[in-house]
Amino acid sequence: MTAAIYTRQSLDKTGEAAGVSRQLSECEDLAARQGLTVTTKLSDNDISATTGRVRPSFEKLLTLVEAGKISTVVVWHPDRLYRKLADLVRIVDIAKAHGLNIVSVQAGEIDLSTPSGRMVASMVGSVGSYEGEHRTERQRTAYSTRAAAGEWHFSHRPYGYERTAEGVVVVEEEAALLRDLYVRYYEGGESRHALVKGLNEAGTLTATGKPWSITALREVLNNPRYAGINSYKGVVVGTGNWAPIITPEQWELYKGAASKRKVLSSSFTRSATSLLSGIIRCDVCGGKVYRKARGDGSNSHEYACSVKVCVSASAAPVDALVRAEALSALLSGPSDLIPMDTNGATFSALSEALSELQQRRDDLTEALGEGLVKLAQVRPQLEAIKTDEEGLLQRRNDLTSANVIAEVLLDIKRNLFAGPTVSIDDAAAVKAQLAERFDGLTLPRQRELVSLLLDIRLAKGRGPKRVLIEHRVVTSLN
Ligand SMILES: [Zn+2]
Repeated sequence: MTAAIYTRQSLDKTGEAAGVSRQLSECEDLAARQGLTVTTKLSDNDISATTGRVRPSFEKLLTLVEAGKISTVVVWHPDRLYRKLADLVRIVDIAKAHGLNIVSVQAGEIDLSTPSGRMVASMVGSVGSYEGEHRTERQRTAYSTRAAAGEWHFSHRPYGYERTAEGVVVVEEEAALLRDLYVRYYEGGESRHALVKGLNEAGTLTATGKPWSITALREVLNNPRYAGINSYKGVVVGTGNWAPIITPEQWELYKGAASKRKVLSSSFTRSATSLLSGIIRCDVCGGKVYRKARGDGSNSHEYACSVKVCVSASAAPVDALVRAEALSALLSGPSDLIPMDTNGATFSALSEALSELQQRRDDLTEALGEGLVKLAQVRPQLEAIKTDEEGLLQRRNDLTSANVIAEVLLDIKRNLFAGPTVSIDDAAAVKAQLAERFDGLTLPRQRELVSLLLDIRLAKGRGPKRVLIEHRVVTSLN
């Protein structure tokens, strides 16, 4: 039996495990133990087998197998030989036609002639974007380490700051404007819409040199780093080492004002009869858009601007479009974006638990009052209830001090995902289940969800393009 040893250097592994010389010597030992005659030693020195770059020695190896010169490949680990599904498929094809054994130091022998062997091959080779994933992980770690050290890592200049040789410094002119915006928002009660209008009328541009939009302004104002608060992925990790532009007190005032307005905007849902009536805004005049009968005897409905009837559109297609956007926001956002307390409990779950405790205490005191039990008998229980209650209240307070919007979203998510767990094996199945659950929500719940996730405006024109949708939470979808 003629064998080839194949080794590959890859940057993602520690030198200890992956050094080519170590791979080679361990493969030689294995070949000797199995009585294989090694006629060829091949090595590729690429960075990663998943980048799609051609590996010359790998290609040569396949040629040798096809020519019948090699019947066994010895590798340190199958992931040296293949990482991409495409590579595995080629090897399997050749193995079927010419016969090929793979023996590995780390994962034993792989028999590519049987389906189960091929399944094992695909598993032990970590077919997928293994190395790619690792790279992002490393990058994340690097970012979070920097964040923990109080540094601000940014690839695009944030408004109000720039990076110099001395570090991140304040751009005074922009800082003054920012302070003014914060105060006008939380003290003057001006809307983001009004602030954006003012900024653009004054010809002010964003840090990337564009006119301001509501999304751009929201992203700027929502950045806790202006108060010197360092955060990583939305989680506060400490104090930054740069000069703040507003005080922590101003930041709290801003956050308070912002969450109050959010709650107000989503609490008009009591008598809702359609998904979007009153939620959509007119892109022309900014007025509310309501749903009404077309009045042409067709029994169909439309969404129309309530102020000047600047815009109108058939209701059903708009509903369908918005539903799809809301679902994609749910699919690609909240699990990562929404803060959870350590037990994953939500505000309403904690409230429920609290009222259960209250109920138990009432039962006990009632029994006590009627002389059914003695105080000595129930005192331990009452004390236990008190301790539990304090713990729950503390956790609920912690949640309340977080974002109000996040709480509402958490509750919606809890309703949406109540019942059997969603299987994550299959992306299409997840989508279908999500849609089913969304459709199962009451109309007010759906409206709440939609207005939290999306900013919807109706513009002039025809077709789906006039429905302007901005994602509030999952801004990456915008
Ligand atoms: Zn209008």
